[in-house]
Amino acid sequence: GKRTSLSIEEQRKSLPVYKMRQKLVEAVYENQFLVIVGETGSGKTTQLTQYFDEEGLSKKGLIGCTQPRRVAAVSIAKRVAEEMGCEVGEEVGYTIRFEDETSSRTRIKYLTDGMLQREALLDPLMTQYSVILLDEAHERTVATDVLFALLKKAALKRPDLKVIVTSATLDSDKFSKYFMDCPIIEIPGKTFPVDVLYSSKPQMDYIESALDTTMDIHINEPEGDVLVFLTGQEEIDTCCEILYERVKALDGTIPELIILPVYSALPSEIQSRIFEPTPKGSRKVIFATNIAETSITIDGIYYVIDPGFSKINTYNPRIGMEQLLVSPISQAQANQRKGRAGRTGPGKCYRLYTESAFKNEMLPNTVPEIQRQNLEHTILMLKAMGINDLLNFEFMDPPPKSFMVSALEELFNLQALDEEGFLTTLGKRMSQFPMEPGLSKALLASVSNKCSDELLTIVAMLSIQNVFYRPKDKQQEADNRKARFHHPYGDHLTLLNVFNKWKESNYSKSFCTTNFLHERHLKRALDVRRQLLNIFKKMNLEVINCHGEVDCIRKTLVSGFFRNVAKRESQAGYKTLTDGTQVSISPGSSLFGKEYDYVLYHSIVLTSREYMMQVTAVEPRWLLESAPHFYKVADPNGSSRKKAKIV
Ligand code: ADP
Ligand code: MG
Repeated sequence: GKRTSLSIEEQRKSLPVYKMRQKLVEAVYENQFLVIVGETGSGKTTQLTQYFDEEGLSKKGLIGCTQPRRVAAVSIAKRVAEEMGCEVGEEVGYTIRFEDETSSRTRIKYLTDGMLQREALLDPLMTQYSVILLDEAHERTVATDVLFALLKKAALKRPDLKVIVTSATLDSDKFSKYFMDCPIIEIPGKTFPVDVLYSSKPQMDYIESALDTTMDIHINEPEGDVLVFLTGQEEIDTCCEILYERVKALDGTIPELIILPVYSALPSEIQSRIFEPTPKGSRKVIFATNIAETSITIDGIYYVIDPGFSKINTYNPRIGMEQLLVSPISQAQANQRKGRAGRTGPGKCYRLYTESAFKNEMLPNTVPEIQRQNLEHTILMLKAMGINDLLNFEFMDPPPKSFMVSALEELFNLQALDEEGFLTTLGKRMSQFPMEPGLSKALLASVSNKCSDELLTIVAMLSIQNVFYRPKDKQQEADNRKARFHHPYGDHLTLLNVFNKWKESNYSKSFCTTNFLHERHLKRALDVRRQLLNIFKKMNLEVINCHGEVDCIRKTLVSGFFRNVAKRESQAGYKTLTDGTQVSISPGSSLFGKEYDYVLYHSIVLTSREYMMQVTAVEPRWLLESAPHFYKVADPNGSSRKKAKIV
């Protein structure tokens, strides 16, 4: 049969990387830098760390392995702990932002690339580590790209540090060149042919088309699980619901279909279900974000459905912030997705786009994140490490100069950098917080404005996903419940309200259920708050409660987000003060339908319009007070281009 259950030991030995064990270990002893390339699922992430540990390399320091995604770091640490027969946090642990599951016993540590970058701030030579694997390097996240340069520097000063770059794709020459032409080791894959089936014409609705294809496979194709790539949580939840209903209607006439979602925000209990073998006679369909492209491997997939899109974070210079946009994937990504169908046997990949779209419309490779993202946070961290000459920083692919200049300008506007581009005392303090500069600035301002207790909560609530949910059959009731939390001055205070009421309920579950609040997200906010509080303690910052005095809170928000202010122009619309972009208050906001002249927003989401999300009413004089260098009162002869006008 196709599915046999092997012991963990047998599973480990059956992975392609196992045959290369000796060669890999020798190469690590002989070289300081090494590039390892192997197909997804060959065992790079779960095995290499264990091999190095078994060889005793962890006696001299931790074996660290970076992951671009939080979920992957957690799920892989759990898997490796299981293979090593220990609990997570013991010999094997993980660290992701706001979560540290390691102990003095830890020898293998999985962590996000963002975390290692943060650790480098305090310890540029990474003295804790003997080996660092930069895993999933082909994803080219900003943090991994920055780590390439930081590790190259550190390793030259530390001949005992081993740096290993692993990648699932063949862009390995570039990595090797960057690291002084270090050796490249390829792990021979064990893959089966995959038939590619293109759509004959462009699909208008890829969701509908993905669902039809799934049903078609389930009814007509031999056994084997299905993996469908979608762009995000909402889409995935919707698909699961629709498919569930369709299958229910056919109850008894077709074999069982197990429907499972996979995305970052999913609780880990559900996530581990995707790894359970499918019972004989039934089929599993997994709806996943591009996390299933290369970061996690699911066995038993014979069919892949690829609509050809993913959500990517893209810097929009016009509104000066990042936006998650659904965009076409690259040919390299399409080929990775296809590969997921050929791991257990010959498979099929259904591309819900035409062959001509693949050849002529998709880029060969994904553009590195550093060339399309907001660099404020990254530059602040580099400055805090004493790296001032950014134009000569050794980026593998440098970001466009204009991106660097605009990030430097914004950091100057936030007073994190001085006129010469050096870090100010404020900037140094801001860099201690693992979050966007606007939030860290507001947190620091809250201390002098005597409302840091409240701001800690607001910032924690802003860094989690939406706490409110609206079940399809109870939307009205959910909206009514939500309205009870609404603060007349806006969403930041509404979020504060929600958190405080939940706290008053003694963090009760039933409070969340009654009020249509995601308990899991609230718990996460509580956790984030605790971590921020720790940073406050370390920095000797006072935590002061302003007892419901809301103006100090609103002023504090202005000091971090004075760049994000819009002025009411007409009944319906607002225009941003910085460049006059037309924006509207999101229908979900507590300020929807209210008529304040000036509002501050946390972000802008582009749907049918540009909607301001998390909006709070502010007074224009606060803008002048907290950012006189940025704002000025309208003056017909005024010529300074840098400043925005308050008319
Ligand atoms: P690579 O990093 O080369 O893509 P991995 O080391 O992540 O490969 O995966 C190797 C194998 O380990 C996979 O084929 C899969 O069978 C198994 N595996 C990985 N994570 C889990 C998990 N959480 N549960 C069960 N099996 C897993
Ligand atoms: Mg991997």
